[in-house]
Amino acid sequence: MSFDIIKGLATTFKNMGKKPTTVSYPEEERELPPRFRGRHVLHRYENGLERCVGCYLCAGACPADAIYIEAEENSEENRVSPGERYARVFDVNLLRCIFCGYCQAACPTGAITLEREYKLASYYPEDMVYHKEQLLEPKGQATIGSNTVWADPAPANAAQPVPQASNVFAGSAASAPAVGLGTARPEEEVLLTNEEQDEDRRKFEGGKDRQKR
Ligand code: SF4
Ligand code: SF4
Repeated sequence: MSFDIIKGLATTFKNMGKKPTTVSYPEEERELPPRFRGRHVLHRYENGLERCVGCYLCAGACPADAIYIEAEENSEENRVSPGERYARVFDVNLLRCIFCGYCQAACPTGAITLEREYKLASYYPEDMVYHKEQLLEPKGQATIGSNTVWADPAPANAAQPVPQASNVFAGSAASAPAVGLGTARPEEEVLLTNEEQDEDRRKFEGGKDRQKR
């Protein structure tokens, strides 16, 4: 027993002079790696329009089913994004999210990025569903966020990728095909037929067999 105490004290004294590997959070914070993925941000163009065109590609690419969108048509009286539609509702459930960044990779307009906000805690689970109002960058702000480190820069002549003067959609190279959705094979029949087995199967004709028993 006494030997254990000596061993423990020896370990303590051995490490006393060493630099600690922990930091005194929250007074002190670690520097995050450049490709850190934290909470999502929805971005705007410089003219104030929202980049999100309500295309659902991010929701389709999300492996955790964490994104919920309700899109609505733009109108001349109420133009929110440059596309046909905009996201009236855009929720991200951060309890489901695994911060994989697939939504960012799938977005053709650079509307959604994962940024450096990691202080995500709450007493209530419903507070962890972040709504568009919380995710959208404020008016007057127009950044491309972590796309500076993750995506190819937009062509110089396309500061606002959609719609182009040529009326051709020319968004980011990362889109549905980039995450495999554009090349998804059509649904295949999964029930294989096995003639031998099928023969052995009892025919079920309107429950007659069962009633006979
Ligand atoms: S980071 Fe991954 S899990 Fe989270 S919302 Fe985006 S696609 Fe879904
Ligand atoms: S992929 Fe981009 S543009 Fe499409 S709904 Fe998601 S955030 Fe909006």
